Amino acid sequence: MFSLRATTTGSLRSIGNILHPPVCHVCGELIEMQADQLCAGCWREIAERVSGERCSTCGESRGPHLLIDKQCGACRTKARGHVRFDGLACVGHYDGALRSLILGFKRHFVLDDILGRLLADRLSSSSFADAVDLWVPVPSFWLRRVRRGFQPSMLLARAALRERGRAPTPLLRLRRWVPEFHRYHLSRQARSDAIAGAFTIARGRDLRNKSVCLIDDVMTTGATLAEAARTLRAAGAAAVYVAVLARTESESRESRAEDGVSRQTRR
Ligand SMILES: [Zn+2]
Ligand SMILES: [Zn+2]
Repeated sequence: MFSLRATTTGSLRSIGNILHPPVCHVCGELIEMQADQLCAGCWREIAERVSGERCSTCGESRGPHLLIDKQCGACRTKARGHVRFDGLACVGHYDGALRSLILGFKRHFVLDDILGRLLADRLSSSSFADAVDLWVPVPSFWLRRVRRGFQPSMLLARAALRERGRAPTPLLRLRRWVPEFHRYHLSRQARSDAIAGAFTIARGRDLRNKSVCLIDDVMTTGATLAEAARTLRAAGAAAVYVAVLARTESESRESRAEDGVSRQTRR
């Protein structure tokens, strides 16, 4: 059936393509309209980063021979101070094309469909996704949410759960502002101190015997996710899983923390 609206939208899109031809969201190279928003080279790079063996409870990157029962040594021995969860699904390293996609998503409120599909794919190969009762995005402080106009973890969760026919539950609140950017220059302990007691559970929610999965974009030291998990467990959650797009690796984390410390010392 003839549709004026569809024809008009199609024509506007064609004009838009001439004025702003489609480009890869990562490298800016011109792409075909159907190319799924990235060029072939950037998709290849993401695919390489997505593969790789990770500990199934803390997400640390390890070679397949250094994992026993899919766990790293620190998780197996329950090492003190080592952040771990009942299960963790992580798409890849916070680096290269994946990092560019995540930054683009957080700045411009786009790409949630691509990132959501990457996370959904990783979840479908995890051992815990089918056991999850509640999918909970890690919240940002309300003022930051208002200023940005959206909450990245909520958008990401919606896109990742679409194919499962599930919806995220905004169960957690951040009761005070936690300086996100500056925390990139803090040690693990300092981050834990900064976030301690910052989450609350939405009133009237009973979590007893529920399995909860936290969803967030990037895991750095894991202090924020560990505190969110502690809050959920204190409210009775039987298991807390984590699904993230990317993890920074220990080396880059430590060097950033040391960089922050040495800068503070110099001042
Ligand atoms: Zn590209
Ligand atoms: Zn581990």
